[in-house]
Amino acid sequence: MNKNHGLRPELSDFVEAMEAKLEKNDHKPDWEQESLDYLKDRLMDEVQELSDAFDNFSFSSVYHDNRNIADEAVDVANFAMMIYSKVKKGKMKKVKPPQPTRNDMLDCFDGMCLFLTIHGWAKRDERAVAIRKLIVEAKEKP
Ligand SMILES: [Mg+2]
Repeated sequence: MNKNHGLRPELSDFVEAMEAKLEKNDHKPDWEQESLDYLKDRLMDEVQELSDAFDNFSFSSVYHDNRNIADEAVDVANFAMMIYSKVKKGKMKKVKPPQPTRNDMLDCFDGMCLFLTIHGWAKRDERAVAIRKLIVEAKEKP
């Protein structure tokens, strides 16, 4: 049954297939509670499944059963829709990347100096001492 929805027939068919698949999975946890990272990973899984469906499709078969390709295309679309919906509703959480502490930076700098010295590429000089001093004296961000 094509309800049309005022859309072109191909899009209307596709939307109905998406809705049917969503209804079939209504027993699963609410996707709106999932993180964008999770939805992105699931989208990538579905893209792989779609690719596998193409790989497994036998063009030489008398009966060209392309239902799996269509089914996986719908899965890809549904996860893309979920991501679109969350982003449009502004449910993207910006995760602030962890900031290195002063000790992290000193460990990194000292490790880099040690590596360069061991390999004879640089010697500890006044510039390195000055940079280390800057790191020690730098104000830590809250
Ligand atoms: Mg799938």
